[in-house]
Amino acid sequence: MGEVKLRSKHFLSDKVSHFTESVIREMTRQAMLHGAINLAQGFPDFPAPAEIKRAAREAIAADLNQYAITWGAKSLRGAIAEQTRTFQGVAVDPETQVTVCCGSTEAMISTLLAVCNAGDEVVIFEPYYENYGPDSILSGAKPRFVKLRPPASPNGDWSFDERELRAVFHRHTKAIIVNTPNNPTGKVFSRAELELIRDLCVEFDVLAITDEIYEHIVYDGAQHISIAGLDGMTERTITINGMSKTYSVTGWRVGWTIAPPRLTDAIRKVHDFLTVGAPAPLQEAGASALSLPQSYYRKLAEGYRRRRDRLMRALEEAGFRCFRPQGAYYVMTDISGFGFADDLAFTRHLVSEVGVAAVPGSSFYRNPSDGARQVRFAFCKREETLDEAAKRLGKLRPRQGTEPGWGKALREQRIHLRTRRKTNHRKGNAG
Ligand code: GLN
Repeated sequence: MGEVKLRSKHFLSDKVSHFTESVIREMTRQAMLHGAINLAQGFPDFPAPAEIKRAAREAIAADLNQYAITWGAKSLRGAIAEQTRTFQGVAVDPETQVTVCCGSTEAMISTLLAVCNAGDEVVIFEPYYENYGPDSILSGAKPRFVKLRPPASPNGDWSFDERELRAVFHRHTKAIIVNTPNNPTGKVFSRAELELIRDLCVEFDVLAITDEIYEHIVYDGAQHISIAGLDGMTERTITINGMSKTYSVTGWRVGWTIAPPRLTDAIRKVHDFLTVGAPAPLQEAGASALSLPQSYYRKLAEGYRRRRDRLMRALEEAGFRCFRPQGAYYVMTDISGFGFADDLAFTRHLVSEVGVAAVPGSSFYRNPSDGARQVRFAFCKREETLDEAAKRLGKLRPRQGTEPGWGKALREQRIHLRTRRKTNHRKGNAG
């Protein structure tokens, strides 16, 4: 037999080499290793509503144990359409526009695989939920990032520059990913901001892929607006949502997409070949969950507002500068007052020496140095858990000679405003 000459193969996909492991999930493993309180990964440590757990048990007892129809149980799709109409005033046909997936995570990757070709670009606001980068790469697209800038005062909002956003749109742009309420910043995009995004999508013929998993978690009168409901967007929006955050069942893995029929057809094919379907009995429980009364959602948001205030108080007392979230269940903080080399050194110290796990800010940015002064804390936890975390955070000591909290930032801002006023005055400008 002749000798077969084989060049040694490179076994790994080039795509995988372009992204790292999830830092959020890694921090959960670190928390377990050190017995730390997990304020890193965003999952609740309190029970899910009794009604929906009962519905899941009943579905299994009734032997709903085989595959549901691949794009989702009829009862759940019907409930999704009904809820979208009630909360957002958007009409949805459950037969042709809804696809139930294994969590909104699968909904996002199925969507991107269904719409992207090699060479397409996907616009992502950063800081961003870490899956969006790898999702774009897996689907062959190139992510293009646009900065959300942190507020300059305690009650300010994260904002983007219209010119920067416009500059990344061009003929290769396939989609923009919008996540509102936003993880990790807590920003709730305003109608004016969404209209601006809408205008660019229409002008450049671009899709909006909108992750609205925190839809029902908003504070201080903020209002969640679905971009799908804006004029001109029905035909070019894919809305992603799921049960995880609204019903405190992140491990059930039930999420969905709502999209125009032609896009839904494509998403359903990808979804079918990826996972066949989401867990059948849990989809039945999902139909009951989505029929809970309006009061459920008010209580959910109110409970999270209390937790937000409790955690922010503890963080501020410990020396963090907090960016107050208007939605979702995370607080982004600035750690400059502690004098650590960067966010990784800080979170390592926090998990091993203080006993609290958080997510280093760099994992939400393409360029790690952009997040080197930021750390994210999740507050989807029981009040006892947050109190214990507060006690432990009390061990942190701001470094001598540095000033924690908002004091320095506000003083710098005042100096900046004074200088601007003087310059304007000299230029003869008003104000
Ligand atoms: N969205 C959650 C977070 O940002 C967790 C999601 C996940 O880990 N699948 O922490």
